[in-house]
Amino acid sequence: SRKRDGKNGAQVYDPSMTDKTRRRAEIEDFIEAGLANDWLDAYFQPLINLTTGQIVGFEALLRLIHPTRGVLPPAEIISVAEDTGSIIRIGNRMLDKAVAHFARMVKDQDLPDAYVAINFSSLQIEPGLPARLATVIERHGIRPDALVVEITEAVLMQDNPEVSQILGQIRKYGCRLALDDFGTGYSSLSYLNRFPVDIIKVDQSFIRALTAGGEVYDKSRMLVEGIATISHKMACTVIAEGIETQEQWRILLEMGVDCGQGYLFSRPLPAHELEALMQSDIVHTRNSGVI
Ligand code: C2E
Ligand code: MG
Ligand code: MG
Ligand code: MG
Repeated sequence: SRKRDGKNGAQVYDPSMTDKTRRRAEIEDFIEAGLANDWLDAYFQPLINLTTGQIVGFEALLRLIHPTRGVLPPAEIISVAEDTGSIIRIGNRMLDKAVAHFARMVKDQDLPDAYVAINFSSLQIEPGLPARLATVIERHGIRPDALVVEITEAVLMQDNPEVSQILGQIRKYGCRLALDDFGTGYSSLSYLNRFPVDIIKVDQSFIRALTAGGEVYDKSRMLVEGIATISHKMACTVIAEGIETQEQWRILLEMGVDCGQGYLFSRPLPAHELEALMQSDIVHTRNSGVI
């Protein structure tokens, strides 16, 4: 049964709500067809060491490739899938695809130390997850520390002792944890205090503000620099999301931010396209600041 937004009579007559409801039903159909017909895939965006310009890993990002509608970005799919519960099946499919592509990619490209970062919704953090990760890791023959589990504060906000236990098991097995979209939630610092994480990903809104000019500009610089300092004191790696310009790269490097991802280096791409790019060395050329 579908969970609808408009539950009271008033909303049903709101034309925009009707559109929204129709759109959600359409997305639900895409999801079911996507699962049945194998339209779901993992795209990859390289994660770059800002000092050396080398690839340290890849973030796997969900794409639903519809035969007539083209590539659908994840935001809408994920939010609908979280409501209907299909996020579990999507997440399992995504995990297997991402690790399979990744295992082949690092072998072909000779990147033995690279890792794959995969996004997980709060519903996926359930007692079966540690064993599921172990199974996938063994099936594809990667090291446990080559898998990074990206979660957002939404996962930690549940304040559920079971969640921290599951995350603890995942880390004990050797996978690492990244806190995604850092700084956009309600009490980012308090989560850092309560949950051990290995990587902190500074949200792209802060990176954009770095070069926006004006008051925001000064404040965001202080904030990002502060986040980098705190992260390092907690022995975490800091990653900046959404780097689009050379200037942002330079500023972030000056602030001591370790790694970054963004359109400056590469958009998220299908594994085979990214491999072709790495083969032709375009990513490396860009990374050495030549562009
Ligand atoms: P995220 O995990 O924060 O992923 C980073 C997003 O920033 C990606 O959007 C990526 O394409 C985008 N991005 C990267 N570099 C740049 C840049 O330089 N400029 C701009 N403007 N954007 C950049 P995408 O792929 O649309 O994913 C959106 C969100 O959907 C992700 O944000 C993540 O929260 C969620 N998501 C994606 N794949 C999955 C998945 O497999 N499972 C779950 N649960 N969530 C996923
Ligand atoms: Mg992410
Ligand atoms: Mg993010
Ligand atoms: Mg995000």
